[in-house]
Amino acid sequence: MREYRDRTVQEVAACTCDRCGRRMTPVDDQGEWYEKMALDWRGGFGSIFGDGAHVSLDLCQQCVRDTLGRWLRVDPPSGPDGSMQALKGVVPRPNAPVSVDRMNPGEFHERD
Ligand SMILES: [Zn+2]
Repeated sequence: MREYRDRTVQEVAACTCDRCGRRMTPVDDQGEWYEKMALDWRGGFGSIFGDGAHVSLDLCQQCVRDTLGRWLRVDPPSGPDGSMQALKGVVPRPNAPVSVDRMNPGEFHERD
């Protein structure tokens, strides 16, 4: 038998862009929230920031583009119809129930 205790867990509730000051939350504007960039690392031996120095940065997507855009490699989705490859394999939700065979079209064999 297991016994449980309550535990307090912290999660990021808001993020402020270090460049422009835009405040982003997952509630107010999800587009900005999910497109923000957070850099967070510790400098190693030979780091220009100092050995063991903690370096971090939070940027909104506009500031990422405005500061790093010149060097960013941005590739459009590469699917044959312009769709994202990451969505390949996502099963659409039809109105009627779907069999397991139909969920795996590559292995689907019509039964007579
Ligand atoms: Zn910004």
